[in-house]
Amino acid sequence: MEFRDLKRQYRHLKADIDQAMVDVAASGDYIMGAPVKALECELAEYVGVKHCLTCGNGTNALTLALKAWGIGKGDAVFVPDFTFFASAEVVALEGATPVFVDVNPRTFNIDSANLEQAVAEVKREGVLRPRVIVAVDLFGLPADFGTLRTIADHEGLLLLEDGAQGFGGSIDGQRACSFGDIATTSFFPAKPLGCYGDGGAVFTDSDEWALLIESYRVHGKGSNKYDNVRIGLNSRLDSLQAAILQVKLNAFRNHELQDVNLAAQRYNTLLQPLTDKLTLPLIPQGFGSSWAQYTLILNDSVNRASLQAALKEKGIPSIVYYPTPMSRQTAFQHVHHYVETPIAQRLSQLVFSLPIHPYITQTETEIVCNALESHLI
Ligand SMILES: *Cc1c(COP(=O)(O)O)cnc(C)c1O
Repeated sequence: MEFRDLKRQYRHLKADIDQAMVDVAASGDYIMGAPVKALECELAEYVGVKHCLTCGNGTNALTLALKAWGIGKGDAVFVPDFTFFASAEVVALEGATPVFVDVNPRTFNIDSANLEQAVAEVKREGVLRPRVIVAVDLFGLPADFGTLRTIADHEGLLLLEDGAQGFGGSIDGQRACSFGDIATTSFFPAKPLGCYGDGGAVFTDSDEWALLIESYRVHGKGSNKYDNVRIGLNSRLDSLQAAILQVKLNAFRNHELQDVNLAAQRYNTLLQPLTDKLTLPLIPQGFGSSWAQYTLILNDSVNRASLQAALKEKGIPSIVYYPTPMSRQTAFQHVHHYVETPIAQRLSQLVFSLPIHPYITQTETEIVCNALESHLI
């Protein structure tokens, strides 16, 4: 069994993907070509924002947002302690300081009360200037943007939505990647919407920031490619990846998002008898997930490593996202801790994720759940 079966997806979409790739090869238009422009329009419309700017990957997308806002030395950027490294890495790379914030024990997303405490601590200390909240849509579930928007407005902070895992999620029908002042996503193959290499995108309603990001992604260009007005990046999406993404976005819209939600529901039902040993993922009322991961929290009594070994013996892959909170990463060992993050520490010890994707079958989910049950009971 595959953790995320991209080969099976390819078999389903093969005719259209093959045609799209051949068309690009024949066009001679390989970098930022017509498929890129077309994809950007389709993505902006799907998400419901004015501007979509694609780029080289999801990490660069975050960097482009921070550059557009002029974030740098002396700035505090609030980041959940439980996320993929890139969410915090980009902050440090720009010379700003990541301030790690604890997460909600059920949604895995940034905790509003702890965030307010962290902002207050930074202000009380008076060394750093609070500037940005990075709200990650972890495992496909949007962060609590209603509350986060209130905090951001009240504190005068910018809201950066890291939707690398969140594409396709929603709150009350509004789509992920539309909640931040700027939002970003990743098209890394295993993300909810993935290409066949690296890719990413930035979303915003602001004309001003969109113009800056367009410049930063191509060497800080001015009126043309050889007029360079700022120091930027080379971070563009290939036409080939864009053409593949157009096919995949269609499938995502037409059935994949629905199918992956059905798979998650099947897990929820099948795992119900095990809820004295583990906690199922929680999707709050009004929220929709794109299920980048299906993540369980084990009770203290369960040995995670031996459970994973037992699954592996039966050919079932499982992965720990994430074994180390940001504040415990070696690369951040010298970063000051403004607040305690006990939930992130605990989750990193107890979580593990099961295989999930739109093409997983009923039989496969049953095999996974039977294996879990026979080990746990
Ligand atoms: C994958 C991921 C990124 C980085 O995306 P890349 O395309 O791999 O650079 C950033 N943030 C989160 C939360 C991610 O999961």
